[in-house]
Amino acid sequence: MSIVELEARIAGLAAEPRAAAERIYAVSTTTGTLVAPDEMRPWIEKLFGSVEAVTSQRIVRVTDRVTLEGALFNDLRAKRPMAVPEKSGAEVAETIRSTENDPFCHAETGTPADDFGRISGELGVTASNVAKYDGYHGVLVFNAHDPLAPMDAAAIADHLTTARKWADAAVERDPAAPYYFLMWNCLWRAGGSIVHGHMQMTTTHGMHYPKVERLRQAALAYGVRYRRDYFDDLWLVHDGLGLGVTIDGARIFARARRAGRARRGRTHDRRGHQPRPRSSSVGRGGRARPRALPAAARRRWRRLAALPGRRAVGRPRRPGEPNVRYRVNGALRGQRDLRRSLHGRRLVTAVHRPLNGHS
Ligand SMILES: [Zn+2]
Repeated sequence: MSIVELEARIAGLAAEPRAAAERIYAVSTTTGTLVAPDEMRPWIEKLFGSVEAVTSQRIVRVTDRVTLEGALFNDLRAKRPMAVPEKSGAEVAETIRSTENDPFCHAETGTPADDFGRISGELGVTASNVAKYDGYHGVLVFNAHDPLAPMDAAAIADHLTTARKWADAAVERDPAAPYYFLMWNCLWRAGGSIVHGHMQMTTTHGMHYPKVERLRQAALAYGVRYRRDYFDDLWLVHDGLGLGVTIDGARIFARARRAGRARRGRTHDRRGHQPRPRSSSVGRGGRARPRALPAAARRRWRRLAALPGRRAVGRPRRPGEPNVRYRVNGALRGQRDLRRSLHGRRLVTAVHRPLNGHS
């Protein structure tokens, strides 16, 4: 199956998965064309097989209507020449070997501990992250140095259990931060700055990290709108297209998230940067509470809300309400560049507009 067949494959699905696909995805296919000079023919044929392959190319665009994530696919782009060669398998293995005996190989002395101590599993031990991106930010250091060493289900279960115990200990210390996030990235392509195999855990307060929270809210809204579970529907589509597999009752499928990310030919070494939290997370339940506004913002909001005719964005005007637009420092909403600074003060003025001939 090629990605360019996606539209046709969805159209050929059974009724239920097809309906789910139509609820979740917007899929379209377009054609890109070009005119190649004769001088380029040998080069194009060498890289892409034939000139015909590039003069008319099929591009598939997929958008998840629920999460507004999207991807653009074109098989040809995988064949592009690379300006910067990637490391070969042997070079990666050599890099891994050459970093043996790093501080993670001696976690007890090479890494700091959390204030609640260390949590030990069969195959790993936790440490406190030196440069944290949240109040509690731990590292599960694997006993094995090589992050690409084969790992069976029991090893993964051991790591997840140890990480969860770490989270329990962190939440016991700080019950106001019950949102647990687990991240497992591996080597530089995934933003890892340390070669030695490890996972990272954080607990945070208020709500989940934005992408996780956005996914959670999108799934809830989907449930309200369609009376269907978003993740069940997601599964139906993937399973229907032959892109899912079930193992011991667990449903497994991959989600492509390519658009906007460099795929090849760039350096991916984010050394010195903390990897960003993304994708999977394990929630600990509880509802997200909006953060309290700072006092000044609360006062400003209350003042604005008290103005006659002031209404929330999207709320239609009620009969009898004045038809009014407010200008902040001389500018209408959205005209930020027209705002005149008034020595840091915000001046709100109102423009009343006539209603159907009445003023
Ligand atoms: Zn190591």
